[in-house]
Amino acid sequence: MNFAELGLHEDLLAVLTALGYEEPTPIQAETIPALIAGRDLLGQAATGTGKTAAFALPILERLGSRGESTAPRALILAPTRELAMQVSEAIHRYGRSTGLRVLPICGGQPMGRQLGALRSGTDIVVATPGRAVDHVARGSLDLQGIEIVVLDEADEMLDMGFAEDLQRLLDATPSTRQTVLFSATLPPRIGGLARQHLTDPVTVSIRAERSAEESARVRQVAYVVPRSHKASALGRILDVEAPESAIVFCRTRLEVDELTETLNGRGYRAEALHGGMDQQQRERVLGRVRSGLADLMIATDVAARGLDIDRLTHVVNFDVPASPETYVHRIGRVGRAGRTGVAITLVEPRQDRLIANIERAIKRQLDVAPIPTVAELRSRRLALTAAALRTSLNAHDELERFAELVDELTEHHDVRAVAAAALRLAHLAAAGEDDEQVEIPQLELGRPKRDRGPARSHDRPMTRGPGDKRRANGPERLPKTGQRVRLSDKPVESGYARLFIGAGRRQGIRAGDLVGSICGETDLVGRQIGAIDIAEHFALVEVPSASADAVVKALGRSGVKGRTPAVRRERRPS
Ligand code: AMP
Repeated sequence: MNFAELGLHEDLLAVLTALGYEEPTPIQAETIPALIAGRDLLGQAATGTGKTAAFALPILERLGSRGESTAPRALILAPTRELAMQVSEAIHRYGRSTGLRVLPICGGQPMGRQLGALRSGTDIVVATPGRAVDHVARGSLDLQGIEIVVLDEADEMLDMGFAEDLQRLLDATPSTRQTVLFSATLPPRIGGLARQHLTDPVTVSIRAERSAEESARVRQVAYVVPRSHKASALGRILDVEAPESAIVFCRTRLEVDELTETLNGRGYRAEALHGGMDQQQRERVLGRVRSGLADLMIATDVAARGLDIDRLTHVVNFDVPASPETYVHRIGRVGRAGRTGVAITLVEPRQDRLIANIERAIKRQLDVAPIPTVAELRSRRLALTAAALRTSLNAHDELERFAELVDELTEHHDVRAVAAAALRLAHLAAAGEDDEQVEIPQLELGRPKRDRGPARSHDRPMTRGPGDKRRANGPERLPKTGQRVRLSDKPVESGYARLFIGAGRRQGIRAGDLVGSICGETDLVGRQIGAIDIAEHFALVEVPSASADAVVKALGRSGVKGRTPAVRRERRPS
């Protein structure tokens, strides 16, 4: 199935090609023709399945071109400002060639600008329910010309208490409108909403159908990463995993090309593989991968279809696949014929439901691992240098002429200093300067329980993943802001001292920042650092007692994340 078969206009097809979309996702294949035909629709699909394009493309197709009137013809309602902005940007991107105007109106934005924009006219409004109701009440949003309404993430909107607002907005639109309702879950309240507002709807559900027993031999790990950090997070994960041969799946050709460039810049031998390449180019790439000349292949699903590579040890989902079937299919490439393999999935914070769908399909939970910190990365690079040095120590015959140089140098310098300087040179030559300074935020994956209603993924606090138990003591154990700093109820681990840092969450300090600063300024490595608690205005960190004074001194000098908070041993309550 390709996009042309779904009944989209050529201009829209051209945009999709330019964006590198090679084929519709399952929800798009089912939804687009029905919506173009004007049907109402009830769709069960989570974010990441391609549902935005599934309703946005038919809206653009049906509206065609800019209307005469200033009043909008399509209304999309979304639970959060973040989602509304995303949807609005997506429609803007897809609809470039149509000239249709799209306007996001969300709470928290200046009213004046919204009023001006509404007055000058728009074709598609993407709004959060509360603000849309405000505008209707003021008479600044006229819904009489609405032809299509989309309720996106309807379950979230109901959970957030928008039921009445939705009712008022739908009542203000003509009853002849086309209505589309997307929801990740279908609790009875959604059924009620659908019965009340949809007419003879088509129902579409993207769910798991197949289980994958063969996936049992594959270690399946997920990393929760904000979109903007994905490429560098993947680089770090690959540095630590050191795969013999890996395939990285992306959604689009553009993503394939960008990621290939990034990973090559990081010293990998990465090859791109996508549907835009001819047979000869593909063969060349596969040849290089099979013979071990390339270690990474960055591919779209279409391009990787039918590929069979023996050496493959790792499959990476740079994006969560749009359906559990695709996930199962992708990871089926490793763990074959009794071999073991690793499947790595990068998950964006809002994609927890998509992961829940996959976990249901494969009948197990993915391990959520913390992204390697700057400190871990550095100690990994040092470990590689140390390993190279050990190999070099075995090459006795070739060491003699250097040994003479050592004799000469140690006349004036300490042997330890000479060895450290030599190591530094070797390390820089092999690993380069530590260009990685920025910590990637460690986020948690919510695992919503259907019967309790969905979790609010969009405002989940940033905390460490559960992978690192020793650092997982949450700030909730700490006393409230403003109180005298007391020890949290647990005793300091033996051999460790607890330090007080006079900056906390409010100052943007995260566990990774402390680990990065301490390891960057002292001899400690990440795993030597004990529990870290970050409170609103201060943080506590445990370090080996023997290094405590050195850490206090070093942090006092260097600061943390561009600040110079007070750093001292924690005063124990008497
Ligand atoms: P959504 O589920 O709407 O949040 O979409 C998830 C991501 O998939 C977005 O980054 C889209 O740009 C991308 N996407 C949507 N449809 C396709 C497609 N047919 N091929 C590749 N990527 C897509």
